[in-house]
Amino acid sequence: MPLLDIQGLRISFVTDEGAIQAVDDVSFSLSEGEVVALVGESGSGKSVTALSLARLLQTPPAHYNGGRILFENRDVLSLNRKELQNLRGGKIAYVFQEPSTSLNPVFRVRSQIEESLNLHRPELKRLDRPAEIIRLLQTVGIQDPERTMEAYPHQLSGGMQQRVMIAMAIACHPSLLVADEPTTALDVTIQAQILDLLRELRKKLGMAVLLITHNFAIVSNLADRVLVMYKGKIVEQGPAAQVLKQPVHPYTKALMACIPRLGVKQKRLVCIDREALAQAI
Ligand code: ADP
Ligand code: MG
Repeated sequence: MPLLDIQGLRISFVTDEGAIQAVDDVSFSLSEGEVVALVGESGSGKSVTALSLARLLQTPPAHYNGGRILFENRDVLSLNRKELQNLRGGKIAYVFQEPSTSLNPVFRVRSQIEESLNLHRPELKRLDRPAEIIRLLQTVGIQDPERTMEAYPHQLSGGMQQRVMIAMAIACHPSLLVADEPTTALDVTIQAQILDLLRELRKKLGMAVLLITHNFAIVSNLADRVLVMYKGKIVEQGPAAQVLKQPVHPYTKALMACIPRLGVKQKRLVCIDREALAQAI
């Protein structure tokens, strides 16, 4: 039984210009402890898919108009409010690109992590929480956890904010971590550190990771499997090594041809020829 099993998922948005089918008959599954990368160009439906897993999309404008999401064998689309609250930030945790989506600027790091412990790990006694917060900050590689927990988010660098967000995410022992372009806003060396951290945490905590990225280097370093999304559909999926080595779908080939390679002279970057691609698909 997979940890997550999505079948025929369809999600649309009603806008002034009509309805957009953002997710169009998507099916995939994820096993316990597995790292799956979801790749695709901007607007292909990656974030909407990710947010739907814990029903984080506002409805309306979003509409779930087909399919099924089973998480730990439970039907997410029919959970009640209380059950959803337990799921969000509990069994399914999110890390986003923008610190502002997860960190509240007016609270210290300590109280933000404490809030999630309070909500999702009520068995942990109040007195034991500071030690747990320090332990979590250490787990995500923060050298000076006592000082960091008393800081406000704006007093921390981008990389440190990202580590704090990861600490909040793992505080509740999730079985699935959804990371939506977690390193896109960071500079390259910090990106590498955060990715190392994710790899280490996955090993240590045994959680599954759904990693959204448009960076194929990240896919080859971290993912067991890859899903390629295009215009709301999954157009290719398979083991990461195989998809990277021998992409089958024309869109995946086109996406990979856009990656500049070290040591390979190219007069100009290859662009996706949309008309040719539309014909091929
Ligand atoms: P990405 O692959 O870049 O993460 P998204 O999943 O964010 O793409 O978006 C998929 C599609 O859904 C896009 O066409 C986007 O414009 C549309 N969309 C996403 N959120 C909304 C919204 N709140 N209202 C209307 N359209 C939306
Ligand atoms: Mg997105």
